[in-house]
Amino acid sequence: METISNIKEMQTRCLNVRAAGQTIAFVPTMGFLHEGHLSLLHEGRKRGDLLVLSIFVNPTQFGQGEDLDSYPRDFERDERLARECGVDLIFYPDAESIYPHGYESYVSVEGPLTTSLEGACRPTHFRGVTTVVAKLFNIVLPHVALFGRKDFQQLAVIRRMTADLNLPVEIVGMPIVRETDGLAMSSRNVYLNNGEREESLALVGTLRRAAEMARDGVLASEKILSSAHQWLNAEDSLSIDYVKICNAQTLEEVDMVDHDSVMLLAVKVGKTRLIDNCILLG
Ligand code: AMP
Repeated sequence: METISNIKEMQTRCLNVRAAGQTIAFVPTMGFLHEGHLSLLHEGRKRGDLLVLSIFVNPTQFGQGEDLDSYPRDFERDERLARECGVDLIFYPDAESIYPHGYESYVSVEGPLTTSLEGACRPTHFRGVTTVVAKLFNIVLPHVALFGRKDFQQLAVIRRMTADLNLPVEIVGMPIVRETDGLAMSSRNVYLNNGEREESLALVGTLRRAAEMARDGVLASEKILSSAHQWLNAEDSLSIDYVKICNAQTLEEVDMVDHDSVMLLAVKVGKTRLIDNCILLG
């Protein structure tokens, strides 16, 4: 396994791999790897001759006052885990080379897909995500790129960008990996103290109880959402950013749950903002 930080060197390496007729599978991350990331790497290992992992804490997807500076980092540990997953190349650029002085170009998906949910709470977030993913695609030149459904809206936005810009990359969505007690794995979980960690279980608990309501025939979104608010508000350190039931493709809110409905939530647990989702009748 090799680590490359230089953009030109990475691009040349990937061009050569393609010219030799080999396929490239790519997993973009912000590092501080956990089992969720590793599941993408394991699947990527099966799908490409060359498996590339990028580690880049992308400043443009963080808003003012968000956790860019304190975002957890541990490159040595990431390297070890990546090696165990059979990663061939880690792309590990710095912010100055991705966004050099005078940088002015952004890729953004317009419309409800990026202005609702996360986009409503974090107005510049998706522009940062699509810009960096487009740039990474141009550097790594992957045949296939893998993303987690943990970031459900992000996956939808990246699919939209890839289709709209005719990018020759297959986008693969992967299931959410959870801790044994159900909390969705996230690099940000390390911020939680013991009490918050306990209360954070209300997120997955709410999704599971909502899915149970739907399975029991309660299909009016309003009813499920009103219960969801009660369950989440029962915990002292939780404050809800949003809880919504949406169509899984368009992410527009729906009045009645059907087999294509997803419940998405974003909740602050103390100072830590967590997101999770679940297909209700999946
Ligand atoms: P991040 O490092 O948080 O930007 O995440 C990098 C990739 O890993 C994204 O495609 C995420 O959706 C995915 N990911 C993060 N957490 C999980 C999880 N718990 N299960 C599955 N995929 C995940």
